Amino acid sequence: MNTNRFVVLLAFCLILKPANAGVAVPEKERFFIVDSWVSGFFYGFFSSKECRFGNAWHRANRTAANDVKIWGGLFISDPNRKFGGRLWEHVSRFTWEFPQTVTGLVYAHAENTFFGNADTVRYKYGAVSITGRRGLFFGLGGPAVTLGNYIIGDDNLSAKADNPFFQHEYGHYLQSRRMGLAYFGRIAIPSLRSEHGDYKENYQSHDYHPAEQDANRRAFLYFNSRLTGFQNDTLYSSNVFSENKGWDFRRNPFSGIGAEIILRNRTVRYVDYTNPEHLASLEKLRVKAQWYDYLFIGISGFYNSYRYNH
Ligand SMILES: [Zn+2]
Repeated sequence: MNTNRFVVLLAFCLILKPANAGVAVPEKERFFIVDSWVSGFFYGFFSSKECRFGNAWHRANRTAANDVKIWGGLFISDPNRKFGGRLWEHVSRFTWEFPQTVTGLVYAHAENTFFGNADTVRYKYGAVSITGRRGLFFGLGGPAVTLGNYIIGDDNLSAKADNPFFQHEYGHYLQSRRMGLAYFGRIAIPSLRSEHGDYKENYQSHDYHPAEQDANRRAFLYFNSRLTGFQNDTLYSSNVFSENKGWDFRRNPFSGIGAEIILRNRTVRYVDYTNPEHLASLEKLRVKAQWYDYLFIGISGFYNSYRYNH
């Protein structure tokens, strides 16, 4: 993508904003949705040389619908939880997890409206899964990120418990719910800076960073305890990773716990949810926020990164 297209698009958004009288949505909201529609129109128009207006029309409607769904994501909750849990999920989003909720909301809109990237927006287990046509930030960022209940990823992400990207990112949402204001300092910033410094002395790659391992741990426990049949994963029966059912132990590995199995000449650590010893050993991967993560919100992330990586 080209900066030119982005600038043209921004200019049109600004010019066309006042032209939306008569739409039955509040003033502020109307601006956002129409912005998205216009932006989608241009992205669609330039997406292919054939059928430009057809593409523009479809993409415009899709982008505007995504915009509404992204806003709606503020008001969803996890049907797997009881009434009290769902109530707290709503309250927490606007209080305890407020910084990451706002960042997630703004970034999701940026990917949809300004970067023209969002393809589908789906709600799952209280999270909003936004699948892009390419990676984050014009493909320069990673494959996925989680901010509050917003999970934003490339076209490998899909809002299903069996999807390895969704599994792992949902673990970050669980961390956010648990740690609240400490999320940036304890999880997000250290995770972004995972492969810096002498990290190899402590862990082999990003996936083995303590914040990532803890996300895997939380999601693994969540899906196994709430979804019947999740335990019946394909790892023992299939060598085809793309047909994965249940936890994906290769893409979302566990470090130093469970049993070793060999798949395609690779060692994978398998954690059996029905094995009490395995479950107990998962505790070793738990990450807890510290008092200074709440006192120095976000800033503690740089200190924590250093501690993790050296
Ligand atoms: Zn992660």
